[in-house]
Amino acid sequence: MRTVLFGAPGVGKGTQAVRLSHLLKVPHLSTGDMLRVARAEGTPLGIDAGGYMDQGKLVPDALVLKIVEDRLQQDDCRRGFILDGFPRTEHQAVTLDEWLAANDAPLDRVIQIVVDKELILQRLSKRGRTDDDAAVIARRLEQYDQLTRPLIHYYSEHGIMCAVDGVGTPDEVFDRLAALTC
Ligand code: ADP
Repeated sequence: MRTVLFGAPGVGKGTQAVRLSHLLKVPHLSTGDMLRVARAEGTPLGIDAGGYMDQGKLVPDALVLKIVEDRLQQDDCRRGFILDGFPRTEHQAVTLDEWLAANDAPLDRVIQIVVDKELILQRLSKRGRTDDDAAVIARRLEQYDQLTRPLIHYYSEHGIMCAVDGVGTPDEVFDRLAALTC
């Protein structure tokens, strides 16, 4: 099963992706985590990406596509995967579709986790990651609205978009995800 977990920063994609990956027995691929690891390791890509992350801006497509392409080629992705935080631009989405089409293994579904903006702001301001200060949060939400949100339309047109309510405890949200038939 090839799934994308989709939604604004702070909707709980990471938490739910970990759980879903255990349930479905497929790897959890978080571009945010991959970029933070590259950064901690001090690779040129990681250092380059870090500057954008600190400002709440999307990391340029070329950098992100490089790490995702490498990861998708690993053996454990053959049975499927859960993408978390990718794709985030139309170019990323189109490129992903091209890669997957070349292997005859298209995405099965894109699940949007829906939480309204007020609650997102509350959650992010409590989280305490270094890119969670007020100005950076505002920029990340703006980047989501401008660059990422339009993908809802892209995937709806492909007929693979569905949504779950992300308000509630992590267990409640997970139960909704696990019960999805899309
Ligand atoms: P959140 O969903 O809370 O923003 P992530 O860990 O997914 O947290 O992302 C953190 C940062 O990493 C983003 O603000 C962005 O700078 C960068 N990033 C992660 N995934 C992508 C992506 N697919 N494209 C561009 N930048 C990304």
